Amino acid sequence: MNIVLLGAPGAGKGTQAEKLIEAYDIAHISTGDILRASVKAGTPLGLEAKSYMDAGELVPDSVVIGLVKERLQEEDAEGGSILDGFPRTAAQAEALSSELEAMGRGIDFAIAVNVDPEVIVGRLCNRRLCKVCGYIGNVDDAVCPLCGGEMFQRDDDNPEVVRNRLDVYEKSTAPLIDYYRGAGILVEVNGELSPNEVFANIQSIIN
Ligand code: ADP
Ligand code: ZN
Repeated sequence: MNIVLLGAPGAGKGTQAEKLIEAYDIAHISTGDILRASVKAGTPLGLEAKSYMDAGELVPDSVVIGLVKERLQEEDAEGGSILDGFPRTAAQAEALSSELEAMGRGIDFAIAVNVDPEVIVGRLCNRRLCKVCGYIGNVDDAVCPLCGGEMFQRDDDNPEVVRNRLDVYEKSTAPLIDYYRGAGILVEVNGELSPNEVFANIQSIIN
């Protein structure tokens, strides 16, 4: 089973992806996570990506498409994958479809997680992550509720960059909702409900 998660930054894709990989035996493919790991490791790719990410711009298609193609070959993706933060452009969507097709696979669902832009800005500026386990929380979490780890704020979760990320989303990524609707695999969920309610709705779609 291959699922594409669509939605603005901060819509809750990462949170739902975590729940999905726990419930089903599929790989979590988050281009944001892969890119942040490259930045942290200081690889040439990371150095190139960092300037785009810090500005809230998209990393070039050629780079991101290459990363996802490699990631899809890994063993844990054999049973399927959750694509989180990819595709973000029409070119990425085309590349994903043809790559999966070449592998004899396809996309089962494109799930759009819908959240009002006003809600998004607040969520992203208040978002805090666990340094140790990656738990996605908010400014009220003094320490990680799961492991007690230190919480931190992502470099791009500041008001100015958030605004640009939302503009980029509207311009480059939102049109993919129509693309997948046209392909007959789009389902929409209300992302303003609690994480568990959103997940229950996603599960009822999948099952
Ligand atoms: P969010 O969905 O909260 O914006 P991500 O972790 O998915 O966060 O992405 C963070 C940044 O990484 C993006 O703003 C962009 O610079 C880069 N990035 C992630 N995925 C892609 C992609 N598919 N194409 C281009 N750039 C990407
Ligand atoms: Zn933690």
